[in-house]
Amino acid sequence: MEEKRLRIAIQKSGRLSEKSLEIIRNCGIDFNTDSRVLKEKASNFPLEFLFVRDDDIPTYVYDDVADIGIVGRNELDESGCELDVVRDLGFASCRLSIAVPADFSYEGLKSLEGKRIATSYPRILSGILDRNGVKADLVVVSGSVEITPAVGIADCICDLVSTGTTLKMNGLKEVDQIYFTSAVMICRRDFAEDAEKKALLDRLLLRMDTVSNAKKKKYVLFNLPSDRIEQAARIVGGMKSPTVTPLLDRDWVSVQSVVSEDRFWSVFEDLKALGAEGILVMPIEKMSE
Ligand code: ATP
Ligand code: ZN
Repeated sequence: MEEKRLRIAIQKSGRLSEKSLEIIRNCGIDFNTDSRVLKEKASNFPLEFLFVRDDDIPTYVYDDVADIGIVGRNELDESGCELDVVRDLGFASCRLSIAVPADFSYEGLKSLEGKRIATSYPRILSGILDRNGVKADLVVVSGSVEITPAVGIADCICDLVSTGTTLKMNGLKEVDQIYFTSAVMICRRDFAEDAEKKALLDRLLLRMDTVSNAKKKKYVLFNLPSDRIEQAARIVGGMKSPTVTPLLDRDWVSVQSVVSEDRFWSVFEDLKALGAEGILVMPIEKMSE
């Protein structure tokens, strides 16, 4: 019998593609991306790639064509498919915003009453408008939403924005950020019923978490007068207690510890103030707590 493989749907080419593949590659999984044919198998992990349009990913996962997928939360919500988000991957973050031409006076969602709004996200937008008691005409377009006011088919738009440059180039002003999204990993709600596949996903997630834990930490190494170890231990905190190595000069020790990125600068300043010298800071590639 053939070994079971976890089937992952990834955007074939677009904003999500490279990052999605990088996450898999950072898990030590090898595959060939030169051809990027529809299907591709990893060489050292039971994983099979399905390269497709991002809009199709939620449906493919829902219909059991793929087991998991990496897609923007916006596409997941727009699809209406009831799926589980297994991880928020944090990249490709952007927002759905209302943008209007210069002569449109916007004072909140109520200003959209009776207007024609062009969007590629009718389900998300109508949900938000309904919750706010606003009735508008949605003009559904699949691309180039930003040109619709200029060509006269819409009064304003609701589109994805990351920097706002595209809007400005088209004479539009971002007036309201109504929904936030980033890339997520999804699976079917009943996925765990297949124990073998579930075990494969758990293996993959453990690797992903090990890599992302490491990214949030720094390995710190410094020299310190031996009589100040206790204070230094309090400053760095760390996984257990810091590792202390004696130096040839008996009055000094070398200390090694792991510090989270967000605390790094305050730890650094406190250590300097305590008299630490030769502070070395190194990235950590992988880390299991
Ligand atoms: P496909 O051919 O696969 O359908 P696409 O043109 O629909 O591609 P991309 O433009 O590659 O899709 O965007 C994919 C996802 O990237 C979006 O759904 C969204 O989650 C995210 N994204 C991040 N920043 C932006 C942005 N500035 N504009 C649009 N999408 C963005
Ligand atoms: Zn798309």
